[in-house]
Amino acid sequence: MSAETALEQLAAEIRACQKCPLGRSRTHAVPGEGPADAEIMFIGEAPGYYEDRQGRPFVGASGKLLEKLLAGIGMTREDVFITNVVKCRPPANRDPLPAEIDACVPWLHRQIELIDPLLIITLGRFSMAQFFPPTARITRVHGQPLMQEERAIIPMFHPAAALRNPNWMRDMEADFAQIPTLLEKVRAKRADRAQDNEGPQQLSLF
Ligand code: SF4
Repeated sequence: MSAETALEQLAAEIRACQKCPLGRSRTHAVPGEGPADAEIMFIGEAPGYYEDRQGRPFVGASGKLLEKLLAGIGMTREDVFITNVVKCRPPANRDPLPAEIDACVPWLHRQIELIDPLLIITLGRFSMAQFFPPTARITRVHGQPLMQEERAIIPMFHPAAALRNPNWMRDMEADFAQIPTLLEKVRAKRADRAQDNEGPQQLSLF
């Protein structure tokens, strides 16, 4: 099965999910969208009012800002995969509860496994908390990539927070500006790794 088909099947399962009480209050679950081979995956917190209505991630003011920031580095939202930690809207946009995050996060892990992105960009603290220690503070660590074997995870402010605070907006623009260089770095790492893996096989041909 292709990653694209697997991702579509996963989205269908998410739309039917009732693993936590948010499944009863939502209008639409929001699995996320983007190409199955996206090099960059953005992970926000949870759908808001418009996302819940439309079943799509980041369609309000935050989405507009994300699109603008992507345009600044020569990309569009169609180039990246966009999703959230929690796939259904918490009532009145309250913070997701720990039990809701625990119930929902396996969906996110399956998406990451299928897409296998080079960069994961966390937007906001709930998303950051999935990858960084509980002591990490977004105001201190934003823009500082956590380098893994073949992936970089970059914590950033949530666009909604940047829209409220001009200082955070400047920080977010600076953090976005690093994306092309980081992407290149991870691409090179993966290419090196692929070559290392090919080496012994090629030798065995002779
Ligand atoms: S929030 Fe996640 S776990 Fe809860 S019902 Fe929606 S998809 Fe299922």
